[in-house]
Amino acid sequence: MKHISEINLQRLLDDNLSLVQKLICKHHLAKCADCAAKLEAVKTQRQELLSIAQNLNRLQEAETAISKTSILRK
Ligand SMILES: [Zn+2]
Repeated sequence: MKHISEINLQRLLDDNLSLVQKLICKHHLAKCADCAAKLEAVKTQRQELLSIAQNLNRLQEAETAISKTSILRK
């Protein structure tokens, strides 16, 4: 049986697979420790990217706040 590609793991996480593809993936994941581990790795990677994105967001908010205060000071 073919392993699940990383793209399909991403799609699975995004819920972007057809019902049939999803069932095939889930069936494979239940039996294949390699792919299950890969899915976990992709999930972890996403969470890291998400937290980086959130930090960047906060940084931008902080920059906006700082630029507002410096306008007020002028
Ligand atoms: Zn596999």
